[in-house]
Amino acid sequence: MTTTTTTTYQMLVDGESVAARSGAVFERVSPAHDVVVGTYPRGDAADMDRAVAAARAAFDSGPWPRSSGAARARVLRRVADLIERDLEELARTETLESGKPISQARGEVASTAELWFYAATLAQHAYGDSHNAIGEQYLGVVLREPIGVVGMITPWNFPLLIVSQKLPFALAVGCTAVVKPAELTSGTTIRLAELCREAGMPPGVVNVITGSGREVGARLAEHPGIDMITFTGSTAVGKTIMASAASTLKKVELELGGKNPQVVMADANLDRAVDAVVFGVYFNQGECCNSASRLLVHDTIADEFVDRVVERAKAVRVGDPLDEATLIGAIASAEQFDQIQSLVHDGTASGASLLLGGHRLDSDTGRFFQPTVFDHVTPDMSIAREEIFGPVLSTLRFSTIEHALEIANATVYGLSAGIWTQDLDSAMTFARRAKAGTVWVNCWMDGFPELSFGGYKESGVGRELGRAAVDEFTELKTLTIHTGPRTSWIDGTLL
Ligand code: NDP
Repeated sequence: MTTTTTTTYQMLVDGESVAARSGAVFERVSPAHDVVVGTYPRGDAADMDRAVAAARAAFDSGPWPRSSGAARARVLRRVADLIERDLEELARTETLESGKPISQARGEVASTAELWFYAATLAQHAYGDSHNAIGEQYLGVVLREPIGVVGMITPWNFPLLIVSQKLPFALAVGCTAVVKPAELTSGTTIRLAELCREAGMPPGVVNVITGSGREVGARLAEHPGIDMITFTGSTAVGKTIMASAASTLKKVELELGGKNPQVVMADANLDRAVDAVVFGVYFNQGECCNSASRLLVHDTIADEFVDRVVERAKAVRVGDPLDEATLIGAIASAEQFDQIQSLVHDGTASGASLLLGGHRLDSDTGRFFQPTVFDHVTPDMSIAREEIFGPVLSTLRFSTIEHALEIANATVYGLSAGIWTQDLDSAMTFARRAKAGTVWVNCWMDGFPELSFGGYKESGVGRELGRAAVDEFTELKTLTIHTGPRTSWIDGTLL
C-alpha cells in the first residue's frame, strides 16, 4: 500500500487561521487505508457566529464589494493559478479523505481551476439593464448588486469542485462567504481558503468553519447575519435547510440528489453507449449526484447490451485509490457503505436479477464495494427509485420512447438524464420531455463552466454555473430617474 501522511488543519476566520474556541478537534480516517489523514477544529455555534460577523463586516464596510470587477477578476485568476500550482497536493488530499481514485481527483482539481478562471470573467459582466423608452423624461436602470453574505454548505463527494461551483461565482459579483464543508472531507476547502488569502483576498471575504452539520451547518442556515444560503447535499438535509432559512426569509439555492437515467435506443452506437453506461455509474464509486444509476434499454437489444455492460464492468479496477490504475476507490463512510449494502439486499429480495458484484470486496484495509449490475428491475423497486450513491446499476427495459420517458420521469428527482440514439426525433423528443435540469445526448456527465447546472423537482432549487450564477448571487435594484418639469399631482400645472 502507498504511504499516507497526517495533516493538522485550522479554520479560517477574518484572514486568520484559528482553532475552535473550545479547543475541540476531530480526525478524518482514510476510508481506503484506515489511518488518520487529517485533524480539524470542531467548531461550534459560537465559532460560526464569529465567522459570520467577519463576513458581514467584510461585506458591509470592506474593500471587496467596493472594488472593480476587473480587480476582483485578477484575484480570482490568481486563485486559479494557485490551484493549478498545488494540483498534486490538493488531489492527494481529496483521495485520502474521500477515497476517490487519484486520477479522478486530479481531474477534479483541474476542473476546479477552470471554474475559477471562468468565474473571473463574470466579475466584469455582472451588469443589469437600462430602459430608454419609458417616456422622454425618464431613464430606467436596473442595477445588479451583490446579494451580501453567502453561507455555503457542501458535501463530501466532490469537496473542492462543489465549493468552487459556488464560491468563485459569489466572490466575482462582490459577495463575501462563510463555508461549512462536510466533516469527512474538509481539507481541500481549508486549503482553498488559504489560497484565496495568498492570492490577496482581503480578510473576512472567505471564512471556513469545520464541524458537524447538525451544529455549525444548522447555525449557518438559520443565521440572521446571512443573506443567502447555498447548499449541496442530500434532498433530506436540503429540506431542513430550506425550513431553517424560512425564519429570516433568506434566499436559498439547493443542489440535491438524483436518480438519473441513461436511455439506450436500439439504433444507438452501442460501443459508445456501453462505455458511457459503465463510466456513468462507476465514476467516483457512484457517489455522485449525476450518477447514471438507472439504465433504460430498449427491449430488442437489452440482452446483448446488458451482457456487454457486465463484461465491461468486470474490467473496472477497484482498489487502493492512490494506485494510478484504480478506477473505483473506497466508499467514503461506514454509513454510506451500509446504505449501499442495504439497498442491494432490497434489490435481490424484491426479485431483480443480480448479474455482477453485490458484495464487499476483500481487502486488507478500507471498505470497497464491488461494481454491481442488476437486470430486470421494475420501476416500483427501491433500487429503481432511491439514490444508492454507490457503484450499483439498475437496468430497466422499455418498448417505445413514450415508455422510456414514462419510466425516466417516474421519480421525485430531476437532476440529469441522457439518451443514446442516432435518430434526431428520438433525441429531441426525449430532451424536451425529460424532467431534468440537464439532458445529455450521446454523452454523459460532460460539464462546462459556461453551462448552468441544477435540478428539477426534488433535485434542487436554482442554478449554478454559467451566467445563471450571476443571477443567483445578485439582487436587482431598480433606479427610476426623472428629468425636467413635473406635472402637479394637485392641479396639473407644470412645476
Ligand atoms: P448531506 O446532506 O448529509 O450533507 C451535506 C452537507 O450538509 C454536509 O456538509 C453536512 O455536514 C451538512 N449537514 C448535515 N446535516 C445538516 C443540517 N441539519 N443542517 C445543516 N447542514 C447539515 O449529504 P452528503 O454529504 O451525505 O452528500 C451526499 C448527498 O449529496 C447525496 O444525496 C447527493 O446526491 C447529494 N449531492 C448533490 C449534488 C448536486 O449538485 N445536486 C452534488 C453532490 C452531492 P456533515 O456531513 O459534516 O455533518
